[in-house]
Amino acid sequence: MEKIWAPWRQKYILNIKKRGCFLCNIIKKQEKGLLLFRGGYCCVVMNIFPYNNGHIMVAPLKHKNSFEKFTEDEKNEIFFIFTESIKIIQEKMKPMGINTGLNLGKYAGAGVPGHLHFHIVPRWAGDTSFMPIISDTKIISQSLEDVYKILKPSFDKIKSTSK
Ligand SMILES: [Zn+2]
Repeated sequence: MEKIWAPWRQKYILNIKKRGCFLCNIIKKQEKGLLLFRGGYCCVVMNIFPYNNGHIMVAPLKHKNSFEKFTEDEKNEIFFIFTESIKIIQEKMKPMGINTGLNLGKYAGAGVPGHLHFHIVPRWAGDTSFMPIISDTKIISQSLEDVYKILKPSFDKIKSTSK
């Protein structure tokens, strides 16, 4: 798999404050090509600056930065969609493993600390080790658009817990 270094990612992260929350923006604009799923309480979005091919994120629709602020409905739907998302990544991307994680707070590496989100990152032998994946600037050549097209039909089949 071809990989390139993308040092501009750091610049992107530093600029996030000026542009506002990118998750809220994607949700508000229902952005095609990025929004894979929108339920009653959470959504699944493509990571614009993926750490690996097929890197997606599960986030509440509301801008919340900690679990204490989540309602029971939010917790239920987020966990359900999180597990469904992993199933879809397994089926469609056929990874050899998957990293999932949560960066709580700026100092834990969260690009958008105000809007909690779970990362789901498919892994293949030889792509990289775990530490670079959470802190580095790698981007994969297969376009976001291709991955979106692969994943979207499966996400369209998911029924939200709230609908
Ligand atoms: Zn937000």
